[in-house]
Amino acid sequence: MSNTSPLKHSDSLSYYQQQNNEVALFESAWNNQLPVLLKGPTGCGKTRFVQHMAEKLGRKLYTVACHEDLTASDLIGRHLIGDGETYWQDGPLTRAVREGAICYLDEVVEARKDSIVVMHPLTDDRRILPIDRTGELLHAPPEFMLVVSYNPGYQNLLKGMKPSTKQRFMSMSFDYPDKDMEAQIVAKEAGVDLELAKLLARLASHIRQLKDHDLEESASTRLLIYAATLIKSGIPVSEACRAAIAEPLSDDIEVVEALMQVMNAQL
Ligand code: ADP
Repeated sequence: MSNTSPLKHSDSLSYYQQQNNEVALFESAWNNQLPVLLKGPTGCGKTRFVQHMAEKLGRKLYTVACHEDLTASDLIGRHLIGDGETYWQDGPLTRAVREGAICYLDEVVEARKDSIVVMHPLTDDRRILPIDRTGELLHAPPEFMLVVSYNPGYQNLLKGMKPSTKQRFMSMSFDYPDKDMEAQIVAKEAGVDLELAKLLARLASHIRQLKDHDLEESASTRLLIYAATLIKSGIPVSEACRAAIAEPLSDDIEVVEALMQVMNAQL
C-alpha cells in the first residue's frame, strides 16, 4: 500500500497546467475527505486534472465514463459465473473504496438514478458503501475520494443534476484557458512550436465568440491539440482545422463552412 507515500514531485506527474487554485483546493478536499464535483465543457482538462491529482496524492485512480445504461451494479459489482460456480466481482467504485483509491465518475448526469443513489451514503459523513448482494457494509478509508464531473452545457439543461445530489459535493468550475495558457498546453501536448499553438488558440477564441450558430459545444482544447497534431504530420493548416475543429463541431454543412470562413480569415 502506498498510503504513506509522500507527495510526488511535479516533474514525474502527468502534465497539467493549472488555471486557478484548483490543485490546492483538490488537495484540501482530499485531506478533509470531501467529495468533489468538477463542472465544465468537454475537453477543457477535467480528466487530465484528476489524473494529475491522483498521481500527486499517490492514489490509484478508477475512472468510469457514465452513460445512460450504467447501473448501480456496474459501479458496485455483481455475481458472475465461472468454472461452474458463482463468484462476486467488485465494480470500480467498490474497488476504490476497498483500496482507498480515487473514483472518478465522468459525465455523472448520464448515469441512471439508481447509480447516483449509491453514491449518497459515500458522500456524507458516514462514508459507507452498503453492498446489498453480499451483505457487506464497507467503510471508506480516509484515502478514498469520490470525484464526479459534468458538463452543464446545452444538452444537459433539462437533465441537470439534482440539487440534493449537487449539494453533497464541493464544486469547482473549469473552462477553456486563456489564449496564452491554451497555446502553451497545445504546444506541449502536440509537440508543436509555440507560434502554431498560438495561432490555433487564437482561432479557438474567435470560434468561441460565435453565438449565432447554434453550436452545442465550442472548440475544445482537445480539438486544438488534434489540429496541431495533424499539421505537425504535414496536413495543410486549413484542412487540419476543417477535420479537427469545424467538422467535429457541427453536422450542418453551412455551419461548417461558416466556421471555416472565420478560421480562414485568420490564416
Ligand atoms: P475533459 O475531461 O474536460 O473532457 P480532458 O482532461 O480529457 O478534458 O482534456 C482533453 C485534453 O486536453 C487532454 O488530454 C490534454 O491533452 C489537454 N488539456 C486540456 N486542458 C489541459 C491542462 N490544463 N493541462 C494539460 N493538458 C490539458
